[in-house]
Amino acid sequence: MEEIPLWYWLIVFFCVGACVGSFYNVIVYRMPRGISLINPPSHCPLCKKRIPIRYNLPIVGWLWLRGKSACCKQPISVIYPIGEALCGLLGALALYAAVGFGTDFTRPVLSPQTWANAAALFWLLLGAYPVCAVDCQYKLIPDSISVGGIVAGLLISLIPGGITPFQSLIGAVAAGDGLYLVGWIATKVLKKEAMGFGDVKLLAGYGALMGVTGAVETLIVAAVLGLLVMVPYGMIKNRKAAKDSNEEEGGQIPFGPFLAVAAPFMYLWGDLLMVLYLTHVLEQ
Ligand SMILES: [Zn+2]
Repeated sequence: MEEIPLWYWLIVFFCVGACVGSFYNVIVYRMPRGISLINPPSHCPLCKKRIPIRYNLPIVGWLWLRGKSACCKQPISVIYPIGEALCGLLGALALYAAVGFGTDFTRPVLSPQTWANAAALFWLLLGAYPVCAVDCQYKLIPDSISVGGIVAGLLISLIPGGITPFQSLIGAVAAGDGLYLVGWIATKVLKKEAMGFGDVKLLAGYGALMGVTGAVETLIVAAVLGLLVMVPYGMIKNRKAAKDSNEEEGGQIPFGPFLAVAAPFMYLWGDLLMVLYLTHVLEQ
């Protein structure tokens, strides 16, 4: 372990990320069609033949077959290997960001804190995609990511060097309860459902991964991003609604994607952003 250089670990992280991307492909195909994720095992959607394991390898399988299925020679969309490659890159990016974007790829990765950061960033970066996709389409956040984040955060906190298990637990409870309270007040003030419980669970997960401060920073940046997108979107929507009056109420913009995009950035640069804010904005 002590001799293994960074470039090797980057390849490992890329491969694990690509496998996660491959799993996402399965979910995206099967969930809307109501097919179980495990059973039946990987099969051709056209001729229903089993797909051998070697063709299921992320990216490689598609290249091997030159984009055509082995069984019935039907074209397989290039979207699949591209999605896998992007997830692979996000996986490698998690480790590369954790080591501080250096240029020395031959040094070994030794500090446990780096591994803790790499694991947390891996979760945040690869979790962002399903949160965005599912929340935009179905207006809900998958529990496997939100509640899963609480579990992942607590597990990662066992690695020495990052936040402690106690900080992780407090982060989850404080972030979840805090956002629940904000949502409760907003619901009373606006007299309509202001915050989904999915967002509360998602932020609790970020609290477990990043601690209270990181979760609060994520919430603030996500709210600012949300306003920047929502205000122009709302104006366009209203103008459109005024034109054809039969259109039903303007579509609610989900909040989960903003949290999911803000979280990895705040994990990396939240403290820096806070210092910049304190020195430049408040000391004017
Ligand atoms: Zn087939």
